[in-house]
Order: sequence, then C-alpha cells, then structure tokens
Amino acid sequence: MLLGKAIGKGLEHLVGPQPESAVNQALDALRAGFEENDIWTLEALESITTQMIKLAAKTTYAEILQNEVVVGAEVDLGGGIIDLLTKQGDLWIITDHKTKLQLKADWVQRELIDAETDWQLFDYAWRVMNHYQTENIAIRRHMGVVSPKMKWWLHQKRLNADTIKRWADGANLVWDSMAALKDPNSLFTPTMRLVECMGRFGKCPMYEACHTYNQDPKMMEALYEPK
Ligand code: SF4
Repeated sequence: MLLGKAIGKGLEHLVGPQPESAVNQALDALRAGFEENDIWTLEALESITTQMIKLAAKTTYAEILQNEVVVGAEVDLGGGIIDLLTKQGDLWIITDHKTKLQLKADWVQRELIDAETDWQLFDYAWRVMNHYQTENIAIRRHMGVVSPKMKWWLHQKRLNADTIKRWADGANLVWDSMAALKDPNSLFTPTMRLVECMGRFGKCPMYEACHTYNQDPKMMEALYEPK
C-alpha cells in the first residue's frame, strides 16, 4: 500500500545520516506513487504521512535509538528486505513495519501477537541466524495506526534458536513442494492446508476447486478459466 511504503521510506531515513530529511523523503515517495482516486486526496495522505513519521520519531524510534545500536535499515539478506535491524547488547532485533489506516482498540493486541508467528519474520530470523552466526534473535512488529487515534506500537518476541531451525525444516518442505508443483514430471500431490482456506482476508480463490471439484481440472472448468 502506497501510504505504508511512503512511511517506510521516511522511517528508513530516520536512522540514516540525515534524519531531518525523513519527512521529505517519505513525501517524495508518496507523490511519486499517487494516483487520483475518489477516496483519498494527495493532501490528506501527505498530512497523515508527515504526522506518522513525526510521531514515530518522538515515540517508538526515540526508544529504539536510545536503547539499541542500528545495524541498518532496508537490510537485504536475500529473500526479503528487513525494514530495520538493530542490536541491544548481543541480541539481534529484526523489526518489521506495518501501517493500518484504521484499527479498533480491541484488535490491537491480536494484530501485535500475530507477529510472533509471522512467516516472513521467521524467514528473516533464519537468515540473520545464518548470516551473522548468532542464536540470539528477537523479532518485532512496529505497528502504526492512523485512526481512531494515531499511535505507534512495538511488540517484540525473543525466539528460541531451535524454533527457528524447526521453522526452516517446515519451510524447506513447503519450498520443495512448490518446486515439485512446477515440475511436470513430478508425482507430488499437493497437501491441503485447511488453515489457509478461510483466512483472515476471506475465502481462498481456489476454495471451490479444492472443496467442491476435488481438484479435478475438468470439473474445475465449470468455474475457472483454464490458462
Ligand atoms: S482452498 Fe486454497 S488454501 Fe485451501 S487447500 Fe485449496 S488452495 Fe489451499
């Protein structure tokens, strides 16, 4: 989402050599990606972006910069870019930003706790573990909410090295399955992952293929357009 990207750009510069340029960098990113629409004016988004970055600088980022050493922002370890990587003593902290335009107070904790089992954050943790040869790792969500009240939260979870390794074992199985699916000679049968069928964003687009048409390509043509 454009707003999240623009704010992310500003946050990146908050820990760079010219933190005073953070708001302008974010606004440049916002203007570059903005398209006229019936919901948001550019001015409204500029105002939100500016306020969110200034608020982070005064609150969450002030806390981070006071207690941690910045290793880097937008750190590329292959397979994804880590928004912010810091160290507190021997502990490596991987921070991922998330911006939400609206979130009721009742949902804040649930959103933050979700970060503790976030696939992407585990992926980053595994890469940090291997790249920096460390088992001292924490993952952290940095979540900003615009409405009903503008606020940033930090939610951190220290990971056990064995848990990261077990995640990697599971991830390798998934990646191997994906590779097998692309191989026309593979005899691999995809496993059903029911947990994803009715996810937080609604019904999976392949729901009927799996649950009604038994993954039969011929039957699926009743609803799906073959490629
Ligand atoms: S419905 Fe979607 S998520 Fe569920 S098994 Fe089928 S493809 Fe996977």
